Parts: sequence; C-alpha cells; structure tokens
Amino acid sequence: MNINPFYYQGIFKIIQDQANHIIRLKEKPIIIAIDGHSSCGKSTLSKDLASVLSYRHIDTGAMYRAVTLAFLDGEVDIESEQEVIDSLKNIKVDFERIGDQNCTLLNGANIENQIRGLRVSRNVSEVAANSHVRRFLVQQQQMMGLQKAIVMDGRDIGTVVFPNAELKIFMTASIEIRAQRRYLEMKKKGATEDFDQIAANLAHRDHIDSTREDSPLLRAEDAKIIDTSDLTREDQLSLALNLAIKSI
Ligand code: C5P
Repeated sequence: MNINPFYYQGIFKIIQDQANHIIRLKEKPIIIAIDGHSSCGKSTLSKDLASVLSYRHIDTGAMYRAVTLAFLDGEVDIESEQEVIDSLKNIKVDFERIGDQNCTLLNGANIENQIRGLRVSRNVSEVAANSHVRRFLVQQQQMMGLQKAIVMDGRDIGTVVFPNAELKIFMTASIEIRAQRRYLEMKKKGATEDFDQIAANLAHRDHIDSTREDSPLLRAEDAKIIDTSDLTREDQLSLALNLAIKSI
C-alpha cells in the first residue's frame, strides 16, 4: 500500500483534533458497517478507523475468499447442495495478527497471500452467492459484533449482518480508479495479471454481487455515501471519523 509521506502527520492531526470524541467512542463503543464495490478502499478505511478507535476490524471479504479457497482446493461442486453443506462442516476461518499484518487463517493455516490472487478472485462471487455459505459466515460475523467496538467491511454488513449498526457507510469510486488501485496493489505483491484482466474481474464481481438473489450489494437507506475517487486516505478517515462522532 502506498502511504503518502504526510499520512502519519495528517493522522496525528486528526487524532489531536478529535481526541475527546475518540475517547467517547472508546467508552461507548459502536458498530461501524462499511459496504461498497470491490476495491474502493473499504479495507484501508476500516483498518484506519479501527486503529484510531482501538476497535476490531473484520474484513468479511477475506472470509468469503477463505471458503472459496477451501472449495477450490477440495474440488467442491458449488452446484451440489450436499457437497457445499458437508464441506462447510470442515471449514474454520479465523484471523490472527502476525507482525503488523492481520492474517486470514483457514483451519489454522495462514492463507492471506493465497486468497488475494486471481484464482480466488475469479471464483469468490459465485461462492458468495450461495445461501448456505452466506448463512454460515453471517452467523459468525454477528457473533463477532456482540461486544460492539468493531469496524466490519463487506457487501451486506449494513443491510443484513448489522441492520442496526450505529454507523453505516457505503463506499464507491469510479471503475477506472478502482482497477488502477487494484492493479498497482497486485503488481506490488508480484502478481503478473495485466490491467485489463484485473479490471474485467472487478466488473464481473460487481455485477454478480449486485444482482445475486441472496443479500445483494445494496446501499442501506440510512448509509452515508463516501465516493473515494478524489479523496486521500486522510480525507477518508477524517470524514468517517466525523460521521462516527455524529452517530453517538
Ligand atoms: O471485499 P473483497 O473484494 O475481498 O470480497 C471478495 C468477494 O466476497 C466479493 O466480490 C463478494 O463476492 C464477496 N463478499 C460478499 N459479502 C461480503 C463480503 C464479500 O458477498 N460481506
């Protein structure tokens, strides 16, 4: 991830300005639900918010990606209801902090790098459209929010997982900007896919995510929209923090 050299200065200033409110958000924890299209910066903003507020961050996309990897490796036929049900019984998804990275674990193994590549990206939306998979993961996500003090990002957090979240944000950005960001991110990780392949995958996932029958990607009526196309990382954090402050 590219961090502007003024980023830490910017964050420090935001924390200084909002210190009293941040303390209130720590004493009276809330649930922050962040939904939106693929690669519009949900995870980055969620991580930043969680770190400033000392909340837990859950990237639910990583959970769907982990199940997808398990299905691909286990050659599970997504069309077979019985295979899906049986396979879910043997899947356990967790998160663990390793160094400064929040890693996704599948049955105890760190699969963080494997779930970010195109092999998983190309199949995840089909797996995520399956109602058994959704029920399995949504239940776990709701348990994680029992204590509040959580920032959760995904596609259905404000509509299905936490319809009563104190703050709901819906993020978006133009497809060109999202594809460019994703391309640079993947290139930095050593991926060889070209820009067109990545842009096509984003458009494909957006289409399936928005048109599926079970829990389609929708803006909750009470969600605040943040278009990140022309916003810096600090701008996004400052905006979201102000929204969180207003919500209490
Ligand atoms: O957030 P990310 O792009 O990693 O998510 C990968 C895929 O997981 C999405 O394209 C979507 O199909 C699915 N997903 C979902 N519901 C969520 C989070 C992710 O359907 N809450």
